[in-house]
Formats: sequence, structure tokens, C-alpha cells
Amino acid sequence: MAAYDFDLFVIGGGSGGVRAGRLAAAMGKRVGVAEEYRFGGTCVIRGCVPKKLFVYASSFPEHFEDATGYGWSVGETKFDWNTLIANKDKEIERLEGLYQKGLDGNGAKMFKSRAELVDQHTICLTATGETVTAEKILVATGGRPNPMSDLEGHEHCISSNEAFHLEQLPESILIAGGGYIAVEFANIFHGLGVRTTLIYRGNEILSRFDKDLRSNLQEAMITKGIDIQFSDTISKVEKNADGKLSVTTKAGNNAEYSQVMLALGRIANTDGLGLEKAGVEVSSRGAIIIDEYSKTNIDNIYALGDVTDKVQLTPVAIHEAMCFLETVYKDNPISPDHELIPTAVFSQPEIGTVGMSEEEAAKAFSEIEVYKAQFRPMRHTLTERQDKMMVKLVVNSADRKVLGAHILGPDAGELVQVLGITLKAGCTKDDFDRTMAVHPSASEELVTMYSPSYRIKNGERV
Ligand code: NDP
Repeated sequence: MAAYDFDLFVIGGGSGGVRAGRLAAAMGKRVGVAEEYRFGGTCVIRGCVPKKLFVYASSFPEHFEDATGYGWSVGETKFDWNTLIANKDKEIERLEGLYQKGLDGNGAKMFKSRAELVDQHTICLTATGETVTAEKILVATGGRPNPMSDLEGHEHCISSNEAFHLEQLPESILIAGGGYIAVEFANIFHGLGVRTTLIYRGNEILSRFDKDLRSNLQEAMITKGIDIQFSDTISKVEKNADGKLSVTTKAGNNAEYSQVMLALGRIANTDGLGLEKAGVEVSSRGAIIIDEYSKTNIDNIYALGDVTDKVQLTPVAIHEAMCFLETVYKDNPISPDHELIPTAVFSQPEIGTVGMSEEEAAKAFSEIEVYKAQFRPMRHTLTERQDKMMVKLVVNSADRKVLGAHILGPDAGELVQVLGITLKAGCTKDDFDRTMAVHPSASEELVTMYSPSYRIKNGERV
């Protein structure tokens, strides 16, 4: 008789947990997976997937406007929030079903319950009080929006979680933050016709991105009509008798909004997980500390994805799950590779970026070349839209390696997936130069920027 109920017990049915659980079960392991909310996790249920559907929804008004330049007369248009929510929910339910089917079909046992560690090998399923044991435990509980509990009136604010289920589209919204979520949602709400204000503590949004991406996107957002308040933060939120929210900022401004959304980073889901009972160490931010093979300080307990606070991206969690399986069950230790991760911000215009920003490269190398093109995409030549597209390559002068590739404009997220391959393969600028252009396309600029726009030598632009 087996010593434990399961070979592997996964806590958390999100992207990373389900991948690990499904494939371990497919290998014949006895697997249990517990999920307290909905299988699919943040990405599928209240993150990347519904967000992208909202991005599509919010981009239609611009398409309607642009159509006139091509001879189309678009009649009266009307948007129905409830239809969008209902259709989105149907799609999310379908995907959730697929996640469950994947686990079930491979023989993993699903528990719709919160799971907490009782000791190093024992898990309590709080829905029933049942305890189960497992030889190995994988914690993949993800993260949640920082609730900013110290902010007076934070309970009146929503996070991205609630934004997917608002009963009605607000008339106005204040979004706090300047990261992925704040920027994406500011564009979504603006596109849907909501009077949108962004409040950010710095003086340029997306602080960790290349400076040209930041300033060009910011300019495009302001030109569209998104009000961005810089160098300020919310200090108090009060609910008025009419339901409106009255917001006071540190700079002393006061205004009313129908909704206030906080998008100020996400924190690891480790509260009450029983990690201390099993002796698992967490960081000062509450994230689980792991080694290069996703193992915690306890030999049989592993963790991956957002709960480890390394890189909070779905494909990273999935990659970590694949590495976990290789390492633990295939006797092939593989450490997750966090280098050169391509990523997109689904703003409007969109950002696609991989590798070093110009500023990072200028610090890391004695001389770099920057190739930059900014142009009006062909699709806008017959429209009134003045949006500019930008493509930029950052190259190490010494060995001609492309260190970073950055795009702002239509389909940037799609383009950067392919660029990610070229950077991962170590392509040089010469490889780009000898690649034939696809004409007419916007991406042909990537292979036709023959002379550098400028060089940066020892930190100085020359
Ligand atoms: P981000 O880390 O992207 O941004 C957080 C923002 O909040 C930053 O602008 C930060 O400012 C600001 N901030 C943090 N703390 C405070 C504070 N105390 N007061 C005022 N401002 C503060 O987090 P998000 O919540 O936007 O997203 C979480 C993660 O989810 C992202 O890091 C990303 O990895 C992932 N994600 C990915 C998406 C994608 O791939 N398209 C989409 C959405 C999320 P500052 O920059 O000055 O530090």
C-alpha cells in the first residue's frame, strides 16, 4: 500500500498548477489538485483572457471611425455592456471546462476547495475538513491585487477582479497605477466611452519599459483623451450619498468618480496557507522562496508561478511547471529560463517588447547602437488617425548582437513573439539586415533600418 494518498498534490488550479497536475497525471502519477475559486486561475478567469476580450471590445469605436476613410458609412452604433459581460462569461466558462477536462481526462483528482498545509506531507481541504497526504506538494496559488489596506476608503475601490463583473459600465473611472493593469484598463475603459483618469506616482507610466515606448504610448493616450495625473497618489476615498466616490489626492486635488480602481501591483497568495506549519520559508513580501529548480527549503515542497514573486506572467508559470516535471519526474533537472522574456502590454496602441531597454543596455555595455523608426502605419493613411508606430532595435556595437527589440503599434504583441525567437537565438543586427523585407508591411521596418539613429558610448549619446 502506498505510503501517501497522492504522489503529487497541487494547491492552486491556475495556469502553472493545472499544467503540472495534468502532465504528472498523464505520466501515471496519482495527482490531486485543489482550487478554491475556479479552475483556470487568474489568467483565464479574471486576467489575461477576459482582459484581451475587453481590449477587442474597446477597440471597435476606432475601427468605426477609420472605416469612413475607406468609403464605409457606419450607421448609428451602440454598446451594451451586459452583452459583453454575458458573452465573455460564456467563453470563460468554456475554457474553465477545458481546464477541468484536461485534469479529469488524465486521471487527476480535482478538489473544489481551499487547501491548507497541515504539515510537510498533509493537506487539509477546508470545504469538507478532509485531510489528504502527498509525497510531493506543489504550491501554485498565484497572487492577488494589492488591496492597499492602509489607504483610507480602500474598501470603496475595485481591483481588476471586480472590473470583469461590474453591473454597469461606469460613467467615469479613476485608475491608480502606471503598470500593465492600470494602462491596459485605462485604454479599455476609455475605448468603451468611460471618462477615464489615470493617477500615477511617477512622471512617466510603465517605469520598467524602454523610454521611447513609455513616452510615445503616454502621448498617444493623452491625445486620445485619457487624463493622466502624474506625480500624485490617492490619499482618501469617500463614498457620497449618491454612490459617487470622492477622491482626495496627496497633492490636494479632489474630484468625483463613479468607480475607483486600484492597480498597484499584485501580492503572493500565501496568507493562511499553513506554510509555517510545514516549515516553508517566505520572503518579506510573503512570496515563497524557491531554489533554481522551484524547490522550497522543504525537500518535498515546490512552488511556482506568481506565488514565488519572480516574474508574474502566465507563460512563465507554465514554463516553470514544465521544468518542474522534467526535474522531479523525468530525472532531467532543468532550471526555468527567465532570460529574454517577450511581453506585450495590450494598450491601444499596443506594446511588444523583449530584451534590454536602451537605458539598461547603455549601462551594461560600453557602446550600443540604437535603430529607431517612427512612422504612420499604412492602414491609417486613408483615415484621420494620426497614431504613429515605432520600432526600435538596441544593438551591442562590439558583437552586433541585438539586445532589445521594442514595438509600439498595431499587433506589437504578435510581432514580438517572433522577435523573441531571434533574440533567444542570439541574432545579430547583420542577420536582421540580410533578411528580406515583407512589403508592404509595418514590420518591414525591422529589417530596413540600415544606419543607427544614434550611438551611446560610455553613457553619452554620440
Ligand atoms: P505592475 O507592477 O505592472 O505596476 C504596478 C504599478 O503600481 C506601478 O506603476 C507602480 O509604480 C505602482 N505602485 C506600486 N506600489 C505603489 C504605491 N504604494 N503607491 C503608488 N503606486 C504604486 O503591476 P500591475 O498590478 O499592473 O500588474 C501585476 C503584474 O501582472 C504585472 O507585473 C505583470 O507581470 C502582470 N500582468 C501582465 C500583463 C500582460 O502580460 N499583458 C497584463 C496585466 C498584468 P512604479 O512603476 O513607480 O513602481
